[in-house]
Amino acid sequence: MRRACLPSVALINLLRWIFVLSALLGSFAPAAADDADNKRLYPLVHEFFPQADRFGPFDGEPRAAPVIAQNVEIGYIYLTDDILPIPAYSGKPISTLVAVNLDGTIVGVRIVHHEEPILLAGVTEKQLAAYVEQYRGINANERIKVGGSERDGYATVDSITGATITVMVINQTITKTLSRVAKSRGLFDGRPAQQVLPFAEDSLSIWQLVWKERQFRIGVLVVALVFLTLVLLFQDWLVQHPRLLVWVRDGYLVFTVIFIGWYALAQLSVINVLTFVHALMQDFRWETFLIDPLMFILWGFVAFTLLLWGRGVYCGWLCPFGALQELINQLARKFNVRQWEFPEVVHERLWALKYVVLLLLFGLSLQSLSLAETYAEVEPFKTAMTLRFQREWGYLVYALVLLGISVVNRKFYCKYICPLGAALAIPARQRLFDWLRRRKECGKPCQICANECEVRAINATGEINGNECHCCLDCQVTYWNDHKCPPMAQRRKRRQKGARARELAEEMVMSFRAMDSTDETDAKESDSPAS
Ligand code: SF4
Ligand code: SF4
Ligand code: SF4
Repeated sequence: MRRACLPSVALINLLRWIFVLSALLGSFAPAAADDADNKRLYPLVHEFFPQADRFGPFDGEPRAAPVIAQNVEIGYIYLTDDILPIPAYSGKPISTLVAVNLDGTIVGVRIVHHEEPILLAGVTEKQLAAYVEQYRGINANERIKVGGSERDGYATVDSITGATITVMVINQTITKTLSRVAKSRGLFDGRPAQQVLPFAEDSLSIWQLVWKERQFRIGVLVVALVFLTLVLLFQDWLVQHPRLLVWVRDGYLVFTVIFIGWYALAQLSVINVLTFVHALMQDFRWETFLIDPLMFILWGFVAFTLLLWGRGVYCGWLCPFGALQELINQLARKFNVRQWEFPEVVHERLWALKYVVLLLLFGLSLQSLSLAETYAEVEPFKTAMTLRFQREWGYLVYALVLLGISVVNRKFYCKYICPLGAALAIPARQRLFDWLRRRKECGKPCQICANECEVRAINATGEINGNECHCCLDCQVTYWNDHKCPPMAQRRKRRQKGARARELAEEMVMSFRAMDSTDETDAKESDSPAS
């Protein structure tokens, strides 16, 4: 027999302990980052300033380190993400080391870390390195123009086709940080420090440029979201046309995997949630989230649908990894692959696992977001969606195993592991409506929908657990199916019986009438003078 809820007190205590432990674990994270940074950066500094014998600590406002040769300062180095951590296409800043001499001229630039998925678009690390190399020799007093023909008064750098956002972010971070460092340290080609730098400042901010550049993708996504809203609003009509619903739903899942997941790279992640929570606790800036328009729109839509429908709209329709699992499972069932489920008692305990994963990640993020990010690889999204399976074999095996399990167990990862699903389930408790219909016979005794639900979100008592429901609408199709849903089937039979009885009655009336008219004819014939 299926139980309605999890053993709550014991679970809450366990979660509390996990939370404290994870926070403690986080506090033992590497503390000697500075030493490691120095060792990592020194060869680069020496390459840019061959005469340097050391560099000082990174400090001041903005944060930069003086480069020293024979006890004399000869320039500065800084990491762009220390000063202006503009998130790039991956949602993370690109860390670029910039070396600038006392004239305010860049003597070296090197990308030291990035998580851009641009390499998949045919752009290589070599091209990226060649791009930033163009900034060498540019002075803080110059204006910079990316791409296009040369223009008087501007230093022109060539862009990289297929990596527009990445290039925009690199350009803005290098130019703006150089401006700030030069201004604060007085590096002006002999000019007074307070002089305003004429550095290139686009009239549009970086996020506005990105939104302009992504118009097509934004348009397609908005149309798709409007369509999904209509599907949800007219779900009662649609579920009574199951064939059409199958086409609509499967088509949408394919769109989600290909367009949202692989083309637009807009798979949401638990890291977005953690970043948002941290931004709320620290300095919240819309720009941080506006840099990726598709993610921004999707998160806005998720927030709206969480309030109205719960987490199911995202998990059932818009999550690319969820959609991929669902399509794989559907294909497997078409080939009659036998499905396998955990016994109820195991399933109920495994259910809680995703909340534990979420709490662990949250605890780690309190110590360091990048630490949490490392452990957030528990999500196979980056491997399966962002990097389209082009990754080191360890990650690849993990993602493929999860997809392999979904052949025999529908949405295994969603049900038991996904911390994003857990994070979405928490606010979904406050949803305003319960849109999915139930009958008084549901669960008492009928278990048909409960047994068919893809994520086992229907309790033994017949209620839908809105925190787990993926809004696939399968149970709503069954609800209206008068060959499957027992109360509906009974009504149909009653209707059919009534119709049959009416037919019989009509037939009898007709035959009586026929008999009457025959008798009348016979009587007329016998009364006629001829007879
Ligand atoms: S539970 Fe996680 S993987 Fe599954 S659909 Fe929801 S967000 Fe996607
Ligand atoms: S088949 Fe009908 S009665 Fe049975 S659970 Fe589904 S909706 Fe309820
Ligand atoms: S079958 Fe019903 S309860 Fe289960 S996920 Fe689909 S819509 Fe939700």
